[in-house]
Amino acid sequence: MKAPVPGQRTPREQKRMSAADRDVVALAIAVAAIILFVATGSAVLPAAIRAMAGYGIGPDSALVNALLLNIALIIFGWRRYADLSGEIAERRRAEEQARSLAEADPLTGTLNRRSFGFALDRLLDESEQASRSIAIMMIDLDNFKLVNDRKGHGIGDLILVECARRIVAALPSEALIARIGGDEFACALTFDPSRVQAVDAIASRLIDAIREPFEVQNLAIDMTASVGITRADTLKKAIEGISDAQHMLDMADVAMYHAKRNGRNNYFWFEDFMGEEMRFRDRIESGLRRGIENGEFVPFYERQIDVETGELIGFEMLARWNSPEFGLLVPDMFIPIAEEVGLISELSETLIASALEDARHWAPHLTLAVNISPIQLRDPWFSQRLLKLLVAANFPPGRLEIEITESCMHEDIVQVRTLIASLKNQGVRVSLDDFGTGYNSLSQLHRLPFDRIKIDRSFVRGIDRCEDSAAIVESIAMLGKGLGLPVTAEGIETTAVLERLRAFSGLRGQGYLYGKPRSASDTRAWLEELGLLADGERKSADDAGTAATQEQNGPRAAQA
Ligand code: C2E
Ligand code: CA
Ligand code: CA
Repeated sequence: MKAPVPGQRTPREQKRMSAADRDVVALAIAVAAIILFVATGSAVLPAAIRAMAGYGIGPDSALVNALLLNIALIIFGWRRYADLSGEIAERRRAEEQARSLAEADPLTGTLNRRSFGFALDRLLDESEQASRSIAIMMIDLDNFKLVNDRKGHGIGDLILVECARRIVAALPSEALIARIGGDEFACALTFDPSRVQAVDAIASRLIDAIREPFEVQNLAIDMTASVGITRADTLKKAIEGISDAQHMLDMADVAMYHAKRNGRNNYFWFEDFMGEEMRFRDRIESGLRRGIENGEFVPFYERQIDVETGELIGFEMLARWNSPEFGLLVPDMFIPIAEEVGLISELSETLIASALEDARHWAPHLTLAVNISPIQLRDPWFSQRLLKLLVAANFPPGRLEIEITESCMHEDIVQVRTLIASLKNQGVRVSLDDFGTGYNSLSQLHRLPFDRIKIDRSFVRGIDRCEDSAAIVESIAMLGKGLGLPVTAEGIETTAVLERLRAFSGLRGQGYLYGKPRSASDTRAWLEELGLLADGERKSADDAGTAATQEQNGPRAAQA
């Protein structure tokens, strides 16, 4: 820590300290005794000298006693004074040490949250006179929790210490640096308001420094950080009950969260709209739990079709939030937040349970695909929990397909493989979703025993117009063939795209051309029309067969 430790003594400490200082009384006694010594000495000594010279009667014995008492007093007073001075110095040193310990983060030696607040307040006061502004940076490590959980807290601690060292090295020497939470650091530095780029440069340097692999106990660990920045001269007005320092920290925090949501490993300066975004996010977050309890999350179903024959194969379940506050919300609005606040498993399992219940009423050859968050893959009990849901719904595992997004490749690959193996043992099939969007997945593909790959819709969409997209789709289809993996093309919106896809054999397709995702009741009504409900569910099965063939093959499928 390069910053001066901000000391602020409590009133009690001050009282105790001045009481110690007041023990100079001991010194005063010694001084008074010296004066008395001079007085009695001047009476006793001449008489004593005269008596020794043989012409006098010698000093009065009472005066001699007084003189001796005086000498004793001087010695006592001086000793006491010397002892006390030593004691006070010792106590001061101990208190200084205790205070700096209370103000420092014991792990990294930087300031802690409390002392950073004091120091920042002081810096803000000082900067009012100077012509410099203050920037606050909030730095949060992106994947620290994962490392901590997987590699253990010992390694986590070493990484934090090294991180603090890198932050200190990247910042100017007079900057204030504090660890204010588990993996969260805050910094304050002054800068010339006409040279904001200097702060940008520091932020970039900081992010680059943290991105360098951490070598801890022979392990190379990758870490990134998200940074939020705010500056004191943009503070509009004081908010009652919140110090300027706290207000700035809050703004930097909001900017940091914005950086997290925008890909991490980057920095953002605070802007007003981020506050709005944050409040919206908070409302979503607080609505999530209530929504789960009230059954506001519902499955919608998107058709999965055999591209060649037009036959309906099954449905992919897509989550929707039927929120009384916001209306019908799509998953991108709430899944990432549910993941962040640890509600994703509960939410997903509630949805899967409803979907299994819905799908039991469909014709038994129709499959059900559900999406799983990479966070759920980290749960070693996931496949057991899924089995429990299957048993409770009396749903054959062979009809269920789990879709895992390509980002699972960044997870612990051994654990993902174990999980996929155990799902497959139960008879559940597993697809790799959004294929082509992540990096490095080609090299990993053969390591995980998927049953199917789904080409991301960003490639499918332009296949009829863009040669690059066409080439990518073609090579994924070839790859699938080579690895013996069937392929699904997502996001088929036009007949032109469908025509191009017909060139590949054995393809499955999804997209708005076949129909938008629909609610459970709409899906069921549509299936009933086609005679594709389970036995005993159909109201009239008479002309179902013909309706089904028409719907699956003809233009009606495209219009649905
Ligand atoms: P996904 O798995 O890739 O699902 C396909 C998404 O593309 C769906 O968006 C679907 O409505 C949309 N889509 C389908 N056909 C077309 C088309 O022709 N054109 C266009 N532009 N879009 C099409 P949705 O429902 O908003 O879902 C978004 C993502 O949310 C899903 O992407 C999936 O990754 C995730 N998701 C959905 N439900 C769940 C869930 O229960 N759990 C988890 N963890 N993720 C879910
Ligand atoms: Ca999917
Ligand atoms: Ca997808």
